[in-house]
Amino acid sequence: MTHAPEPDHMHAISDDTRDTVDEVLHYARRRALFQDIPLDKAMSPRDLARLASGSITADGIGARRAIGLFENVLAPACISTDHPGYLSFIPSAPTKAALAFDVVVSASAIYAGSWMEGAGAVYAENEVLHWLAREFGLPEGAGGVFVQGGTIGNLSALVAARDVARRRNRQVGREDPARWIIVCSAEAHSSIASAAAVMDVDVVTAAPDAEGRLHGEAVSALLDEHGPAVFAVVATGGTTNFGIVDDIASVAAATRGRDVWLHIDGAYGLAAMLVESMRPAFEGVGEADSVIVDPHKWLFAPFDACALIYRDPSVALAAHTQKAEYLDTLTESADWNPSDLAIQLTRRARGLPLWFSLATHGTEHYRAAIDGGIRLARRIADEITAREGVSLVREPQLSVVVFRREGWSPADYQAWSDRLLEDQRAFVVPSSHAGETVLRFAIISPLTTFETLTDILDTLA
Ligand SMILES: *Cc1c(COP(=O)(O)O)cnc(C)c1O
Repeated sequence: MTHAPEPDHMHAISDDTRDTVDEVLHYARRRALFQDIPLDKAMSPRDLARLASGSITADGIGARRAIGLFENVLAPACISTDHPGYLSFIPSAPTKAALAFDVVVSASAIYAGSWMEGAGAVYAENEVLHWLAREFGLPEGAGGVFVQGGTIGNLSALVAARDVARRRNRQVGREDPARWIIVCSAEAHSSIASAAAVMDVDVVTAAPDAEGRLHGEAVSALLDEHGPAVFAVVATGGTTNFGIVDDIASVAAATRGRDVWLHIDGAYGLAAMLVESMRPAFEGVGEADSVIVDPHKWLFAPFDACALIYRDPSVALAAHTQKAEYLDTLTESADWNPSDLAIQLTRRARGLPLWFSLATHGTEHYRAAIDGGIRLARRIADEITAREGVSLVREPQLSVVVFRREGWSPADYQAWSDRLLEDQRAFVVPSSHAGETVLRFAIISPLTTFETLTDILDTLA
């Protein structure tokens, strides 16, 4: 390059930047409206280096080449989590409205950490959080924030819980314990142990029943044993592996009247509470001090978003508000500042895609879509029971179905799974339970049909 580039070249409205925006939005539109979503699969670092290296240059390769590289090389090296045959881990299935609005969030340059800067966006996010809080049976006054994911949601809630316990100790003149303790089920998500490690606290696991469900009795025994060292009890509203909902009502009863925080990890499963017939399974959630649910899982929003809701948001403010001179104008106001409710400062208005889709379609479509996943899980479970050679590990409670192929070694499962992906039929990775290799269908997408699943079962014959 002979001349120094103009400083405003990338930002000014010009034919060049207009073309760039068009290229990108056209691709986004195409991808959002794909009739047949390609499943795709990872590529080795060597192959990617061969096909995709050299894109960062002094003068740029131009939007057309860069988007071409993404569309033809990089995107096909990523599995589409919204493919109807993506049934591993927890899939994603954003509504068209939600994923399209995610583009608007980016285009709008909203800082959603403070009311002063992002009032409109924060208001709309709060509409969604308050609606969820009511659905979960939390009282008026409950509120929270959308954070990056369930892991950060759990950590933020537990940090608030310990802060409350510390303040209480200070108030009554009691010493803090040598080691703080979180009580949860042995089936709790790995992010609880991760949060405990970050916080340098201990996790004491209570044994679940034969069905994998945590009950109040086991919790009570641990609360008696460890006393005020326990600052939080975590119950799971739908385990990731099996979709098991703890006996939350009895766990809540065990914590009642004791100085201990009740947190519900409903990252995946709490969405099922929107379905009337599933409500009884979640009794007790309304007694929680905090809950999380991930819109990027079963609420059909794009990555990444976790709704973190506190029964009393003021205690979260006390725990999380960052103090700094340059922030004084924010922290000295009584405004609702989402940054102050979790471990974060700068934040994207990541709740807006869900808000837009909910506003567009109404809540009934959400209930129906979630109910559809639960019904499909039951139907395919019956089918598995009826078929030779495969059997259920456990009846599904939500939309996760775990089953085995009789007579297969772990290597057989892996080879089958690899072939399924190689053939671009589906993404079903082997999982394990109690030392046994098993298969698992996690059903989220309303585009996943009974036929999608029976076609996969056919390949197990
Ligand atoms: C997925 C999940 C998490 C972690 O959520 P991320 O959004 O992946 O961080 C925590 N708890 C449960 C029960 C989950 O299913």
